[in-house]
Amino acid sequence: MSRREMSGRKKKVAYFYDSEVGGMYYGPNHPMKPHRMSMAYELALAYELHKKMQIFSPRRCSAIEMAQFHSEDYVDFLSHVTPDNQEELAGQLKKYNLGEDCPVFDGLWDFCKLYTGASIQGAARLNQGHSDIAINYAGGLHHGKKSEASGFCYINDLVLAILELLKYHARVLYIDIDIHHGDGVEEAFYTTDRVMTLSFHKYGDYFFPGTGDLKDIGESNGKYYSLNVPLRDGIDDESFQNLYKPILARVMEIYQPGAVVLQCGADSLAHDRLGSFNLTLEGHGECLRFLKKFDVPILVTGGGGYTKKNVARCWAYETSIAVSTEIGNEIPDNLYHEYYAPDYNLHIQPWTTLENINTQADLEQTKRKIFQYLSAIDHAPSVQMHKLPPETYIPQFDDDVDLDTRFSQEERDLVTEHDAELYEGDYDQIGD
Ligand SMILES: [Zn+2]
Repeated sequence: MSRREMSGRKKKVAYFYDSEVGGMYYGPNHPMKPHRMSMAYELALAYELHKKMQIFSPRRCSAIEMAQFHSEDYVDFLSHVTPDNQEELAGQLKKYNLGEDCPVFDGLWDFCKLYTGASIQGAARLNQGHSDIAINYAGGLHHGKKSEASGFCYINDLVLAILELLKYHARVLYIDIDIHHGDGVEEAFYTTDRVMTLSFHKYGDYFFPGTGDLKDIGESNGKYYSLNVPLRDGIDDESFQNLYKPILARVMEIYQPGAVVLQCGADSLAHDRLGSFNLTLEGHGECLRFLKKFDVPILVTGGGGYTKKNVARCWAYETSIAVSTEIGNEIPDNLYHEYYAPDYNLHIQPWTTLENINTQADLEQTKRKIFQYLSAIDHAPSVQMHKLPPETYIPQFDDDVDLDTRFSQEERDLVTEHDAELYEGDYDQIGD
């Protein structure tokens, strides 16, 4: 490690949260429960982690900002479709893949504005050096496509946050530890070397979304800058970290990103309602702990995670890692205490009956292949900063925005200065 990595500088952590998101409801029997965001937040408060970080209520993202990546017609449709008018709009509903997996629910547009606003705002804080780590567990909707919803995801906040980071950084690394392939983010940056995507996911058995083969490595200028680590059922902490750490270390050495986005989907944990991996909080959290050592600004987002008591456990635990504070295994009294019955422990046990069908030989082979791809990259691509998108790179079209989004740098700074801060922790107590 370099001296900088060893410096142990105190990390300034910003946590974005809006209670409105926790009240969103995809519908009966839908596995996605935004309520987990409130549970994770309350658990972090109960562990007094708010004293070690700043908590912000996110500003709402505008349609114009969303259209930096998404098609204008898709954004426009999301802005006016409601449970009441969706039947009249059945044709378009189908076109944009809204319906069963991605339902139109009450507050959907607000939901999109809030989770996306927080990710972009988090990226802006990192850019301006106001924070070292920004956390938005409401974000991480990695399946969202340019012109359609997919896999419980609507607006792809990750892509938009990465675009924000690219205004200041020549290279951005995206890491995805959700059990599902980060297809929306990979697709968005498949032909560029400005963003490297690295996704660890279940692959095979027609598992959603079906992409993310080891052979898929990017195209054109992006060749070797999309990396996929396909895994099979039952992967445990040790096998996962035996891939994650050496691969990430090599990526950091070769690619040298200026900022990193870590999508912390918690459906890769043991006991997930939709997943079939066998990670514990320790194995999952180690991904952030290890990444922190490289001393690069990090945007941490949520993602999948369908056994909500464990999602809350995981994200509260990862918040503790962000603020470098050890927290006890006994869950303190909190608003949702009863959800953690019967043991009221923070940590979860892996399945003892779930076989890890990833063989040592397969995992080694995967690692070798990834290393081989990385060796095809000579060194970090030197991007000319004049190629960066200008600050005013905003499509012109009418919109119902409440902010003037044709912002100059000064206006952008102003927005950040006026972040609605809910709580400011005492940094002096933060160790690294
Ligand atoms: Zn997922």
